[in-house]
Amino acid sequence: MKCINHPEREVDGACVYCGKLFCSDCLVEADGKLYCKSDVGKALKEAKEEVAASKSVSPNIVINNANTNMNTNNNTAGGMAYPYKSKLVAALLCFFFGVFGVHRFYVGKIGTGVLWLLTGGLCGVGALIDFIVILIGGFRDKANMPLK
Ligand SMILES: [Zn+2]
Ligand SMILES: [Zn+2]
Repeated sequence: MKCINHPEREVDGACVYCGKLFCSDCLVEADGKLYCKSDVGKALKEAKEEVAASKSVSPNIVINNANTNMNTNNNTAGGMAYPYKSKLVAALLCFFFGVFGVHRFYVGKIGTGVLWLLTGGLCGVGALIDFIVILIGGFRDKANMPLK
């Protein structure tokens, strides 16, 4: 077989792009493959465009992942929101059962709740003060968080 471009020269390989046979002078190696000189430019350009196309697809996937992560984080944060105790419930418990310290048990203050239970809400004074403090929004739960 003779090279298409050089009738006097033997063929050394085939262009992977056009499939024709060429001598070593006509063939160029690129990315480990042989191309003829007229095709190597086109072949490399297409290869670059393929890379560019694959790169333009990847960022979209990354963006989607980022959105998913943000959503997951938001959901997690929402699920872990602080379980605020209800100001209304605490006020009602204090009004009706304040001398038993029930409102203090409700917000997790077990120690003073027992004290209130044993002393009748410090003879009613503690219960009355708690009721007022709850109403003006100064009452805190065991983690010192305000009631909602
Ligand atoms: Zn070719
Ligand atoms: Zn040739």
